[in-house]
Amino acid sequence: MSRVYNFSAGPAMLPEEVLKIAADEMLDYHGSGMSVMEMSHRGKVYDGIIKKAEQDLRDLMQIPDNYKVLFLQGGAHLQFAMIPMNLMKNRKAAYVVTGNWAKKAYQEAAKFGEAIKVASSEDRTFSYIPDCSDLDIPEDADYLYICHNNTIYGTTFKTLPNAKGHDLVADISSDFLAYPVNVSDYALLYGGVQKNVGPAGVTIVIIREDLIREDILPGTPTMLMYKTHADAESLYNTPPCYNIYVCGLVFEWLKKMGGLEAMKERNEEKAAILYDFLDSSSLFKGTVDREFRSLMNVPFITGDKDLDAEFIKAAEAEGLVSLKGHRSVGGMRASIYNAMPKEGVVKLVEFMKDFEKNH
Ligand SMILES: *Cc1c(COP(=O)(O)O)cnc(C)c1O
Repeated sequence: MSRVYNFSAGPAMLPEEVLKIAADEMLDYHGSGMSVMEMSHRGKVYDGIIKKAEQDLRDLMQIPDNYKVLFLQGGAHLQFAMIPMNLMKNRKAAYVVTGNWAKKAYQEAAKFGEAIKVASSEDRTFSYIPDCSDLDIPEDADYLYICHNNTIYGTTFKTLPNAKGHDLVADISSDFLAYPVNVSDYALLYGGVQKNVGPAGVTIVIIREDLIREDILPGTPTMLMYKTHADAESLYNTPPCYNIYVCGLVFEWLKKMGGLEAMKERNEEKAAILYDFLDSSSLFKGTVDREFRSLMNVPFITGDKDLDAEFIKAAEAEGLVSLKGHRSVGGMRASIYNAMPKEGVVKLVEFMKDFEKNH
């Protein structure tokens, strides 16, 4: 067996320790005589698994008691619709458009009410975060929406927008658990887990209780009401049981690693290795404004498409895989989530140095 360093943006690397535990427990979970894949989601054993997963996540993120944690399906994409369906009381919401995902969320919201683009960085291909200190948000807007870390372009909000008293909603799909967050700065936080948390198929929503209401968009399907899932503690229908279990193993791993402060330090160290090299390289360069650089997704280019392709191919032969940039931007992108060990980033930079010497 030989495992590669996988720089995919998602589904992405999982901690090897977690995969080993999952493998060990595959045939017989804790003496139950069955795999977690095979057991009833209504049984006592599974109830223990999902409850512990939620508690560990609450501990890691210090989630206040007046927030619910929901394990849902449908990916981040379904939240693009569920958020306006459940939260647009006045049929009006403000969106900051900092990349493809924020743009898709904004476009989806426009199906349900008035979606107002209050800031955008599209003029320079999303290579920065616009000034959000004094946004023109209508008084009666129901919420302000951001995508906290822009997976495709590699930018992150370093300070939160001034929401001017409005509820702040954030997509944290690609920086979920990468560093501590102050949950109470937000009304709702959500993310698909397949970037930085677990196997695809689970979307975690952290929502302030007062936003879980019944008087929402008429005609909203039962399955798309936050209230349905909050009331049933994420067990309204069959959840993605096994995937939630693996997320739980990742939460345990994160606690063992020292929690989110320790992750932040680790992630800053890894990102600095790569960014410092990019800043000194004569061949490779980063594509976004320095002050907004993501700790998770690092896009870079040589400036020559053929050379980019040659680099990606040569890197793959060295066990440095999935470095191709998103189809909408090209070039390269190294996603260096929690599970990417420092050794992987060091090896990538060594390889880039060699490649630079030879080209
Ligand atoms: C990947 C990603 C999405 C889309 O996620 P799906 O789970 O495929 O719907 C949305 N937002 C961000 C920030 C992402 O990184």
